[in-house]
Amino acid sequence: MLFKKVFFFLFVLVNVLLSAPLSQRMVKDKVWGSGETMLAFLQENKIPLKLYYDMDSEDEKLLSDIRINTIYQVLRNDDGDVEQVLLPLDDELELHIMREDDGTYSTSVIPIIYETKQKRLFITFEDIPSKDILNKTENYELSLGVTHLFRKIVDFKKIRLGDRLIVYYREKKRLGRFFGEQKIEAAMIEQHGKKYYQFLALDGKYYNQRGKTTGTSSFIIPCTYKRISSPFTTKRWHPILHRYRAHHGIDYATPIGTPIKAAYNGKVIFSGVKHGYGNTVVIRHAAGYKTLYAHLSRYIVHVGQKVKTGERIAYSGNTGRSTGPHLHFGLSLNNRWIDPALKIIFTKGLRGSKRAAFNTSTKLFMQKMKNVLERDKSHLKRAISLEEIDASDEHNRTVSAATKDGV
Ligand SMILES: [Zn+2]
Repeated sequence: MLFKKVFFFLFVLVNVLLSAPLSQRMVKDKVWGSGETMLAFLQENKIPLKLYYDMDSEDEKLLSDIRINTIYQVLRNDDGDVEQVLLPLDDELELHIMREDDGTYSTSVIPIIYETKQKRLFITFEDIPSKDILNKTENYELSLGVTHLFRKIVDFKKIRLGDRLIVYYREKKRLGRFFGEQKIEAAMIEQHGKKYYQFLALDGKYYNQRGKTTGTSSFIIPCTYKRISSPFTTKRWHPILHRYRAHHGIDYATPIGTPIKAAYNGKVIFSGVKHGYGNTVVIRHAAGYKTLYAHLSRYIVHVGQKVKTGERIAYSGNTGRSTGPHLHFGLSLNNRWIDPALKIIFTKGLRGSKRAAFNTSTKLFMQKMKNVLERDKSHLKRAISLEEIDASDEHNRTVSAATKDGV
């Protein structure tokens, strides 16, 4: 049933795009504004509100997490009725609302379908890095990602004309537009002749060429707990419910009244009731991070208050749509939920097979980067390039291209 619907939507979408001049039926791009709610959206589009009230608690929480400025699609029939809506809930899932033949509506949560491409970006800086990346790629998410990755390693204010950058990444597009995290696999900034590297390892974290982290994993676990009752997931097929699920945080099972501590220095930007999250505190930290503490029995901080790492801010509870006493701990970077486990202080580092895989891929990337830099020396006029690459075959192509150019 689910897959039938997904294919049906794609079928309609393609049909509408192909036959657009002949039909009144239109797919329109819309923008999810700040303060927008699902109830208001349904009301505005004359869709029965029952649809919202019938949703389960997990889907309801996802709806309250929609990023501001998310672009979504609405398809209407000739009478102006909404036939279908496709609304991204996070990087992996979207809500599909569909009008059935009898005029009733149904919803399902389905995976976002992406076009992905391996890309390599090479830049000799002419301006500030974020601007150069944006000018070359028009990919804002990539520009944001690169600057965040190197923010504690390179002083961007001291980047000079002629310093260089290489980024290997997975470009992701949804319906022709950049969407979601543009996954950086390897990156190098050369500043005044010194090279700084960052590589993505199998544990989802970034390390330099010697396998060292850069001190960015600095959040603490906000409470004592018995066990993790639910880890972070962006897309998980639930085999019993037969549906896709996402969980934008870590659930720490802990008795009601357990003290909750700020995971890092910051400023409280929300304390109150937040949809299915119940009593909630949100803290804004430096560098685009925010933490969220939900289902609290009570909180003892107010909006605008500055807090220090480890400072008591609240007590755990079971408020909102919660299935048992626990703390829901969410972490977002630039308004995108990320796995808190990736940023919590840890000391182990890469080990075993993950370390071996890291060493192998790092070696390969460093060789590729060396080739790109060497090629550049004899072809300064091609200092900025954006190429689609076949990851497995890129080394050979680089060598043969260089040979063809007479290097
Ligand atoms: Zn949770």
